[in-house]
Amino acid sequence: MKTIINRLLVFFCLLFSAAGTFAQKIIHRDTEIEGMVKQVSTDSLRSYIDKMVSFGTRNTLSSTTDKQRGIGAARQWVVQKFNEFAKNSNGRLTAFVDTTTLAADSRRIDVSVNLGNAMATLKGTDPSDNRIYIISGHLDSRVSDVMNRTADAPGANDDGSGVAAVLECARIMSKHSFPATIIFLAVSGEEQGLLGASYLAEKAKRQSWNIDAMLNNDIMGSNHSNETNIIDNTRLRIFSESFSVQDTGRAALNIRSLGLENDGRARQLARYVKEVGERYVDNLELVMVYRNDRFLRGGDHTPFVQLGFAAVRLTEMNENYNHQHQDLRTEKGIVYGDISEFMDFEYLRKNTAVNLACLANLAKAPPVPEEEKIDVRNLTNSSTLNWKVPKTGKAKGYYILMRETTSSVWQKKIFSTGTAIILPYSKDNYFFAVQSVGATDNESLPVIPTVGR
Ligand SMILES: [Zn+2]
Repeated sequence: MKTIINRLLVFFCLLFSAAGTFAQKIIHRDTEIEGMVKQVSTDSLRSYIDKMVSFGTRNTLSSTTDKQRGIGAARQWVVQKFNEFAKNSNGRLTAFVDTTTLAADSRRIDVSVNLGNAMATLKGTDPSDNRIYIISGHLDSRVSDVMNRTADAPGANDDGSGVAAVLECARIMSKHSFPATIIFLAVSGEEQGLLGASYLAEKAKRQSWNIDAMLNNDIMGSNHSNETNIIDNTRLRIFSESFSVQDTGRAALNIRSLGLENDGRARQLARYVKEVGERYVDNLELVMVYRNDRFLRGGDHTPFVQLGFAAVRLTEMNENYNHQHQDLRTEKGIVYGDISEFMDFEYLRKNTAVNLACLANLAKAPPVPEEEKIDVRNLTNSSTLNWKVPKTGKAKGYYILMRETTSSVWQKKIFSTGTAIILPYSKDNYFFAVQSVGATDNESLPVIPTVGR
């Protein structure tokens, strides 16, 4: 009898502790974003990938003039899809192929190439708000030899998955309006050395585009590791650099003295993607990886990161190297090649929804608060922060975020309608940040306060 009572006690304790765990996570979803997330469709994603594969190869060195086969036909088709979606956008979505000519080099371009990024811009509704959010994938594909422009290179997952996510977000989001601008981007030349992304990042820098965040999606529609045999469609990785190449001199000193090595722009964005992605997408964990990319591989976020923009990479949890960068063949019973039969469209749906939720939440939110300061003039066991209203738009209030110095994610979120706050927590023991919050509770990226004296 006693053991039964003990067992029941243990059961109830477990039950209540589990309930407690869930009770702490109150999830508030914006109904407009929730509605958009529900529209992400496995059928649409599959149809985009089937069409991309039908171009035979999308190698950057393949034909740009053939109507059926090659990168030229593929990028025209992407723009045609964007133009179809534009019909429901009240004239706000416009698309084109942004081309440039690259001369042959001694690396991965052996003839002069007409390089083209297919892109669509969903113009923001607030003319005074110049923020830009970018979602990207790469349209080009490859086989074992990156210079092989004739063999079939289906590129279903690498990176049909990323481009399919871009198209699906464009389809759904172009029916809605946002104060900030969103760019849907399918670049070329990734496999030849991040050429299309570098071209656009340099152009953006030259023209002073205010890119607030860039989400690069590359290889995120399959879930099956080749050698460890793990199948998992419940986790997606976010790669982010800790701080950027611009952080030298005084900026580097500041990072060292304040312990801000985990709070660079890309890392801040990764944390945001984790929180907002998990808010809107069920049965998916966003796993932050504290490095810019995987070993031996590159990605289109990198040229943006190197020019000081906040950019991260989203990639599946377990890659299958038999299905990437491989000639189509069967050897010793193993099928090699990047074909759609190896993809998990439910996983791709969830990963696409993460992008959509983050882009929508960012583009609906007001811009970041201005001139955040933390007062360090006195020895106190409390913390005083102040900031100014965002440059444009309207914030109904602000979230003050805090976390212990060893925590990877924000632990406490305090809402304030004012632009100053005194918190009963010591500035010595926590990191703080401030976000602007809009009318429908969408929050901007967080900004770490600078030291005010
Ligand atoms: Zn790729």
